[in-house]
Amino acid sequence: MALSTSIKTPNLTYEQPLGLFINGEFVKGVEGKTFETINPTDEKPIVSVHEGTEKDVDIAVKAARAAFEGSWYEKTPGERGRYLVKLADLFERDIEILAAIEALDNGKSITMAKGDVTNAAGCLRYYGGWADKIHGQTIDTNNQTLSYTRHEPIGVCGQIIPWNFPILMWSWKIGPAIAAGNTVILKSAEQTPLSALYAAQLTKEAGFPAGVINIISGFGRTAGAAISSHMDIDKVAFTGSTLIGRTILQAAAKSNLKKVTLELGGKSPNIVFDDADIDNAISWANFGIFYNHGQCCCAGSRLLVQEGIYDKFVARFRERAAKNQLGNPFDEGTFQGPQVSQLQFDRIMEYINHGKNEGATIAYGGERHGDKGYFIQPTLFTDVTSDMKIAREEIFGPVITVQKFKDEAEAIKIGNATEYGLAAGVHTKNVNTAIRVSNALKAGTVWINNYNLINYQAPFGGFKASGIGRELGSYALENYTQVKTVHYRLGDALF
Ligand code: NAD
Repeated sequence: MALSTSIKTPNLTYEQPLGLFINGEFVKGVEGKTFETINPTDEKPIVSVHEGTEKDVDIAVKAARAAFEGSWYEKTPGERGRYLVKLADLFERDIEILAAIEALDNGKSITMAKGDVTNAAGCLRYYGGWADKIHGQTIDTNNQTLSYTRHEPIGVCGQIIPWNFPILMWSWKIGPAIAAGNTVILKSAEQTPLSALYAAQLTKEAGFPAGVINIISGFGRTAGAAISSHMDIDKVAFTGSTLIGRTILQAAAKSNLKKVTLELGGKSPNIVFDDADIDNAISWANFGIFYNHGQCCCAGSRLLVQEGIYDKFVARFRERAAKNQLGNPFDEGTFQGPQVSQLQFDRIMEYINHGKNEGATIAYGGERHGDKGYFIQPTLFTDVTSDMKIAREEIFGPVITVQKFKDEAEAIKIGNATEYGLAAGVHTKNVNTAIRVSNALKAGTVWINNYNLINYQAPFGGFKASGIGRELGSYALENYTQVKTVHYRLGDALF
């Protein structure tokens, strides 16, 4: 099979790389395997890409190690930053192509996809700016010793990303790792390999030395597992399900105790008090769950509404959900496209059926949309109790449960009644309530009078079973550096 092919999307034609990107070149996998990627809008194959397995990971690790100790080690921090800034410029130059790939391969609306590419470019540029601002401390221990710290790169980093934000997750992972001086092997999700390969080609154009960034298309149980258990990978960063997050941690423990950061699932509460600006709260609740078709780890999937406005809120929320435009991702006006795959579609429909059988009421949606593509109607469940499966487990689709609460204490209690702790929302005009409740919620991010707004300058990550470590902002750099303490003796020998 060829290493690239021309692909025609509804709005443009471009050249798609298909190989694994190892040591600065697109290559075939050692085992000669390929796999198809499916267009979730029409359920037809788009193209096949070369598949990486354990042996390819091994070759990529050798290339990344050589670069880490050679060409990349020789670069100044300022030079590292300039590569990232150049890459950000190329993302912006090719925004139409990258967004079209996301719409084709993932099914997200072209308008939202352009937002992802803009944010990905912003993230890369932001970390380009950090590259020459990473430094340690000088520490006053005594007059005969100069003690200082260096924040050194960890080394060769494995990065495993999911399918819900393919190009954005690529930038969240690559940006801080590269700024801090590491080299990487990134495995894209098997459902959405295309944008990662296109971006790999842009790293070549940006001039990154061979081996610094390696991109592997492949499956979790083969290529992913090879990364997490590799003896010469120094760190693994994973975004995906909590189930697989646990296996990554185990594989790290059983192999070389590589450093691990995990960004996992959520079942985030979005709390609306009686005194909230109701129009505003409805818009954010709608965006909080239905943005990206509910395929957000931080989705506000549990809506908690205070009893005084409950009936009015539910009625208005249904009207709002009905206005969300579902359809072809390439139509500018589309808000919600298809779910990413048949498997995800089936999982979500199973949850919807389970909710009905558990006794919850479908106040809106609950069915497939159309007869082609993995589309699901925005779905609203009422008469929900905290013990129901649909209120406890991450559905990862356009499904929201609504529960009624009496007062602040009850809202906090229901809000925190989950194994997860990724995010939460609070809607109220009372500043004291807003701050008190956001302090009490056990979540890595709290949005007050908004939801799902993420900035690459501010950290993102989970409490409890939602993860370990933080991505974005200066905090991400801490996960890609290790501290070395140096004591330089100035005075005479002590003994
Ligand atoms: P997943 O966790 O299986 O996949 C995420 C990534 O991990 C992919 O690149 C996959 O190839 C890789 N992977 C899978 N098994 C692996 C293994 N044993 N070792 C190393 N890597 C492995 O997620 P999924 O099956 O695509 O989706 C299942 C559920 O996960 C969803 O319904 C959703 O609840 C959750 N999810 C969460 C996020 C998030 O952003 N937190 C993203 C995607 C999926």
